[in-house]
Amino acid sequence: MARFTHCLERMDWIASLLGALCPFCRRRTGDTRLACDDCALRLALLERRPPEAVALDGGLELRAALAYDDEWTRSLVLRQKHLVTPVVIRRLARLIRRATPPEWRTLRMAWVPGRVFAGLHLTEALALELARLGQPLVERQVLARRLWPRKPQKALSERERRSRDMRKLYGVTRRSGKGSEESLVLLDDVVTTGATVEGCSDLLAEKLGADVVGALALAYSPRRARADAKS
Ligand SMILES: [Zn+2]
Repeated sequence: MARFTHCLERMDWIASLLGALCPFCRRRTGDTRLACDDCALRLALLERRPPEAVALDGGLELRAALAYDDEWTRSLVLRQKHLVTPVVIRRLARLIRRATPPEWRTLRMAWVPGRVFAGLHLTEALALELARLGQPLVERQVLARRLWPRKPQKALSERERRSRDMRKLYGVTRRSGKGSEESLVLLDDVVTTGATVEGCSDLLAEKLGADVVGALALAYSPRRARADAKS
């Protein structure tokens, strides 16, 4: 945790040397620590909008802070490595916290392992910030990424996606034992089809006896998922 905070502070300092860019849209503005006027307005509107609530194909309940329904959100989510800065993580975690149903807030949270940027990754950074906001976390990362697919999930056809077995891509890092059967919530950064969160949820149930009650995400991309299903 201390190392994580230290890394974030160092990145903030580097950003301040490079010039003042809005941390959300990367446009040049007056202060690196603040959103530009446009982004501040966006965030204020998002904080008033109801969260995305969907039941995924496998039945898992998903709550997402953002929907991929505008250019701002798309460009924000596509710049993942830039998002791991303190001001952005804090603001995005607040949006996820807001999207979290009250009955999930007392459950421990596991998170889907993601790609690492400068020693940090977006989902883990969000999980740690959510912990500061009161969400309990599993005591350490329980999911591990075994393989990276050759193609990103979004580039796969629906058939390829279904045939890909998430259990081959992910593993559990501790053996099932006494006390591991518990209700959990699962966090991912961007959910498109839900195959990753549902696959990981099955894996946690199978290997740890955990009951994944629901999934939280920074963003849900329903339109893209539908467009892919048609192709
Ligand atoms: Zn901005």
